[in-house]
Amino acid sequence: MKGLYVHIPFCQYICHYCDFVKRVPKNKDMIDEYLLALKKEIMSYKDHFKTIETIYIGGGTPSMLDLDQLTMLFEMLKDINPLEYTIEVNPESYTHDKGLLFKRYGINRVSLGVQTFNQDLLHYLNRGHTNEHVFHVVDDLKRLEIPYISIDLIYAIPGQTISDLEHDLEQIKKLDITHVSCYTLILEEKTYFYHQYLRGNFKEVNQDLEATMYELVTKSLKAQGFEHYEISNYAKHKHYSKHNMIYWSLGEYIGVGLGAHGFIDGYRTYNERALAKYLVNPLKEKTLQTHNDLLQDDLIFGLRKIEGVHIQSIEEKYHLDLFHTYDKLKEKMDLGLLEIKDGYLRLTDKGLLLGNQVFMVFI
Ligand code: SF4
Repeated sequence: MKGLYVHIPFCQYICHYCDFVKRVPKNKDMIDEYLLALKKEIMSYKDHFKTIETIYIGGGTPSMLDLDQLTMLFEMLKDINPLEYTIEVNPESYTHDKGLLFKRYGINRVSLGVQTFNQDLLHYLNRGHTNEHVFHVVDDLKRLEIPYISIDLIYAIPGQTISDLEHDLEQIKKLDITHVSCYTLILEEKTYFYHQYLRGNFKEVNQDLEATMYELVTKSLKAQGFEHYEISNYAKHKHYSKHNMIYWSLGEYIGVGLGAHGFIDGYRTYNERALAKYLVNPLKEKTLQTHNDLLQDDLIFGLRKIEGVHIQSIEEKYHLDLFHTYDKLKEKMDLGLLEIKDGYLRLTDKGLLLGNQVFMVFI
């Protein structure tokens, strides 16, 4: 499979935890100018259009574009016929007319930035929506027969209790959607929270509570009929994110837009992160991946999947003996972080919590 990632780096406000490539636009012209540059970049990949099977429009906040801008964006992509076509939506910037446009251009998957259903915590994160927005958007998307709806949830937020998280998980049940991505709040540099942390005003959730929350999320979503298929992702009826599966399976994808990266024809590509530079020339650098780079990525990304990596396939692809090349793997198995099942090497429940300790083996 081959994917296309399209980055829209504009947001109405900046969330306190966010380290994505994004900015609040000065005005409408700034977005229009960006879209023109984006169109040029997308057209430079025209020869790949026929082989692209997933499109993912992410951000930033793609749904903050107005109807004309969204139409312009979708027109750029209309010669591609993907199996899966996703757009990220923030609940407060969605309108029924935007939903109609999604439908008209064949978007079949919406990823909704919810994060939590606790209004105080939303405020703490500096999010701009309410629970009413979320239920309204999901209802409307269902009425429009957009078949695949995913929400993003964040847990281990300072001040969040187990019962807050239980409440969030109950709301997910009520939404009756196909997919959930669930991440811990990570303290990233250059964020508002990081500055608070440096001043002693931000205290990370302790690891025991974080682990308890992870177990609660997994147990509760499984009870709701979700399959845990990747460290942080859960799907009903095998409605995995096909686009993200490309990342985790070392498939090819093109990345366009500010700060986007891709993996195509054996090269990792990295776009400019500064808007002024991007508008002149989007691509910052591309690096040919060595045998070792590919092996490392195959193992680290592959182990993020709950099924793990197929040992024989990896050994044949890279002409090696996995346990001979990485003698520390045995140690990780003895620690109960890894196991072998049906020919796959995979993280155990304990390993899912401590994945980084395993990934270090390959670096
Ligand atoms: S989390 Fe999303 S909406 Fe919030 S600032 Fe980052 S990109 Fe924008």
